[in-house]
Amino acid sequence: MMLRRLIVCTVSGVVAAVAAVTTGVAQRPPIPNSVKPFVSVDAPVVALVNARVIDGTGGPARTDHTLILRDGRIAALGETARTPPPPDARVIDLAGKTVIPGLVMLHEHLYYPVGPGVYGQLGQSFVRLYLAGGVTTMRTGGNMNGFMDLNLKRGVEEGRVAGPAIDATAPYVNGANTFVQMRSMADADEARRQVAYWADMGATSFKAYMQISRAQLGAVIQEAHKRGLKVTGHLCSVTYAEAAGLGIDNLEHGFFAATDFVTDKQPDVCPGQGGGQQTIAALDEGSPGFRALVRTLVDRRVALTSTLTIFETLTPGRPMPPGVDVLLPLLREQFEQNYRRTADNTASVYRELFPKAMALERAFVKAGGLLVVGTDPTGGGGVVPGFANQRAVELLVEAGFSPLEAISIATLNGARYLGREAAIGTIAPGKQADLVVVDGDPSRAIADIRKVETVFRLGVGYDPKALVASVTGRVGLW
Ligand SMILES: [Zn+2]
Repeated sequence: MMLRRLIVCTVSGVVAAVAAVTTGVAQRPPIPNSVKPFVSVDAPVVALVNARVIDGTGGPARTDHTLILRDGRIAALGETARTPPPPDARVIDLAGKTVIPGLVMLHEHLYYPVGPGVYGQLGQSFVRLYLAGGVTTMRTGGNMNGFMDLNLKRGVEEGRVAGPAIDATAPYVNGANTFVQMRSMADADEARRQVAYWADMGATSFKAYMQISRAQLGAVIQEAHKRGLKVTGHLCSVTYAEAAGLGIDNLEHGFFAATDFVTDKQPDVCPGQGGGQQTIAALDEGSPGFRALVRTLVDRRVALTSTLTIFETLTPGRPMPPGVDVLLPLLREQFEQNYRRTADNTASVYRELFPKAMALERAFVKAGGLLVVGTDPTGGGGVVPGFANQRAVELLVEAGFSPLEAISIATLNGARYLGREAAIGTIAPGKQADLVVVDGDPSRAIADIRKVETVFRLGVGYDPKALVASVTGRVGLW
């Protein structure tokens, strides 16, 4: 039985290879031994039957549906009674379970805070954790390591690495700063050179940081756009309105990082993150100033990235974030200390800021803005890839979005921003078979999104338990 199956696979593999040569269509790369331990479903044709389907458009869940996956794509989607599995399909019964699109998460990192001002490069463990959490496509929102993001992007594309597809961001573009792992750019000319170099090396997006000048940011945007690449920013020295005027594509951290409302703001100078945050915490979402800023961002099609997970770890009184038990014990202890310190900080601005930021993000969406989501595993730790991505969707629901809206923000909106919505972000025939199977019904109880059973990327099913087990206790080393 086993032997016959192998022969059949080999023969069809040869046929597929011949077809690929003649048509130029990319074929699914063979699964190497390094990836096999994480794969639970590997068949050319898969039928997921009796499933509840949340398609990512925001439309209602459909029950008793069947999905046929063929050669990495969704070949068919229909009512189970009318969609019989092809005879060669591997049939998987999903009664009581839900299929959602693979998550498309846009503020991810392959590094993590390990010590004072030092970010450990954890790409190897993080890509597995992201995939285990249901992320099938991600953008890294800034890079502290040089080539790791780019190399892992290629590794995933070539099938050598189990992980999500990566929109790989270059090292941060920033002005004079004191980070030991970040360049301080001297002027706009250097900004242009930095963008050109990293784009040539394979970076597909850019992230501006808190000390960049308007001239530098303008040069970055120009150079990136010339190459069809997008620029986002965690800003401070440049206001959101100024950045929108310069043509930025995306702003990170919702309105947490806006310095537009700091009254004595000096041009090109960061008044300190705290200064800006005091003004945001006190902001009225109905005020003319805020409404005008939202209008500017919407008119100029600037997307906004919600990163509530990182801010939750800085807010007193919040639950312990999920996933910290996979960390290296020393890093786990370090975070638990930070967590207790946060809990004791009764004067924290985040008490007002955290719920306010949720309200502002809602207002942005209500005004027609494109809200995308990411997790940002930085700060004082505790934002653990994969686990945090699920938490990010839960927090959107806490912010007032319906579960179906939150899932759509975490899938379709991300795909739209990346310009990839024709291939990913929703469940529809012809699209990539990037899917997450969860036990339960996240359209009713969003916490069910934590119960991931299988993650399909390009039709290959990955086992989240195996992925997580392979790194548990070592996340912090690699
Ligand atoms: Zn970040």
